[in-house]
Amino acid sequence: MKCPECNHVDTKVTDTRISADHTSIRRRRKCLQCGYRFSTVEVYCKMELLVIKRSGREEEFDADKIVCGLRRAIRSDEFSERKIDKIMQNISRNIFTNYSKKVSTETIGQIVMEELKQIDPIAYLRFVSIHKNFHEANEFKQEFKNLEN
Ligand SMILES: [Zn+2]
Repeated sequence: MKCPECNHVDTKVTDTRISADHTSIRRRRKCLQCGYRFSTVEVYCKMELLVIKRSGREEEFDADKIVCGLRRAIRSDEFSERKIDKIMQNISRNIFTNYSKKVSTETIGQIVMEELKQIDPIAYLRFVSIHKNFHEANEFKQEFKNLEN
């Protein structure tokens, strides 16, 4: 697992924890080069869940891709990795409970946004702007307004 800070490939697992419902494993890691600490979450690929992309192509569900998107949206601070863990657990549970064989990238995006909105509204807006292509500045303003309510 590559270090998100310096891209070094050697990391050491410093802690391993199984979630309360035993559906995921969280590993704390430390980069052997720069010392950066981060964590990864391991979840089932239950029934080989397929993700249908906008192009119609299918690929295996990959939690790491979602984690990467979250890392880009969530401001990195001492709480960010814990936040990502929590969001990732909720997202995985949601997806695997409701979609047993196939799920579209759009649906995943929707689920991610709902989770982000509750846990980190600023990251939510950043995520939306990265993934939705806001052509109209007004749309963005509207999202801000919705959050304030
Ligand atoms: Zn590093």
